[in-house]
Amino acid sequence: MVEIKLKKGKEKAVYQRHPWVFSGALDKVKGKPENGDVVKVLDAQGEFLAYGYYNDQSRVAIRLVEWDESVGIDEAWYAQKINTAIDGRAHLLANEETTACRLIFSEADFLPGLIVDRYADFLSVQILSSGIEKAKETIIKVLVERLKPKGIFDRSDATARTHEGITAENGLLWGENPAEFIEVKENGIKYHINIAEGQKSGFYCDQRDNRSILASYSKGKTVLDCFSYSGGFSLNAFAQGAAEVTSVDSSALAIETLKQNIALNQFEASKHIAIQSDVNKQLRQFNDEDKKFDVVVLDPPKYAPSRSALDRAARAYKDLNRRGLMLLESGGLLATFSCSGAVDIETFKQIIAWAALDAGKEVQIIKQFCQPEDHPVRLSFPEGEYLKGLLLRVV
Ligand code: SAH
Repeated sequence: MVEIKLKKGKEKAVYQRHPWVFSGALDKVKGKPENGDVVKVLDAQGEFLAYGYYNDQSRVAIRLVEWDESVGIDEAWYAQKINTAIDGRAHLLANEETTACRLIFSEADFLPGLIVDRYADFLSVQILSSGIEKAKETIIKVLVERLKPKGIFDRSDATARTHEGITAENGLLWGENPAEFIEVKENGIKYHINIAEGQKSGFYCDQRDNRSILASYSKGKTVLDCFSYSGGFSLNAFAQGAAEVTSVDSSALAIETLKQNIALNQFEASKHIAIQSDVNKQLRQFNDEDKKFDVVVLDPPKYAPSRSALDRAARAYKDLNRRGLMLLESGGLLATFSCSGAVDIETFKQIIAWAALDAGKEVQIIKQFCQPEDHPVRLSFPEGEYLKGLLLRVV
């Protein structure tokens, strides 16, 4: 096995079990590792620190996976990591009212670059590191043995792969192909999911808890669900008796799926308005018309993919939230989210405070939202905390 010595002082983060070693921390590479190979990481004195996946194409040159020198990174190791992750979700898997959840969440589950989502009888997999790519066959074998899915579908078409120097993949990895739309349930609500062509791995199960929290404020209310995708917030609002729901998304597939989902749950289509449009444009139009809603949801895509994009993202979040707040009257609620890891909760609060000031609204935080238990945050890897949100009441 190739051994890589770190520069003096760079062992500290490894001791703290942070899983990333940046290329600037490497001192000497003994041997010629291929990208994706498991390498031994040593401190400046040559003492063992950890094992990790090597990649010279990535800013993160080594993704650490194991800190115990006596353990081999073999099939038994993958089985142990995968089974521990799945065991941790046992009660979610046992819940027949929720058949969509994340089973493996990358670094948080000690498998950097592997994401596995369960959608009823199928698994949707994203392989985002060259180390996981090399172990793909083993991982599929373990998943099949443990979960006996009908099929495993590869949705590794994310930009993260290009940073690792691996090509995008989209196709069947094992078993049978899922139908164009398969049905799942989340808290008893039915959804159609297009595993092959839907966004990300097909569905955003990270908003499961937040959808259901927000729905409890929706009875008898007019709700505007911006960036609705397949209707997570809209459908939950209907389930709790919303008077009328307006959903806005720019994607045709999102709006088509949302309409199917309204029908699937036998919600009243006459109380639903689906608008395929750019949210900013639509909010401007609503503001021009002096339109008001009781509850507004803003769940935009990631505006800040990295810290360097923070300034631009802050302006975009501010403008969006200013427009959203202007649609609310006293007592109205805004549920606003950011899934940018680079924007922490305190920064997000500051941005929303500016938005409220510009909108001329006084607001109170009445709840904070976060990511659910199947997207855990390892304390030694705070970067894994990405989803945050605020429930605000206009005074
Ligand atoms: N709230 C959703 C998830 C939102 S994901 C849920 O609960 O499932 C972000 C969504 O924003 C995607 O569906 C994407 O199509 C949409 N989107 C991205 N940019 C947009 C824009 N400028 N205007 C409208 N929709 C946009």
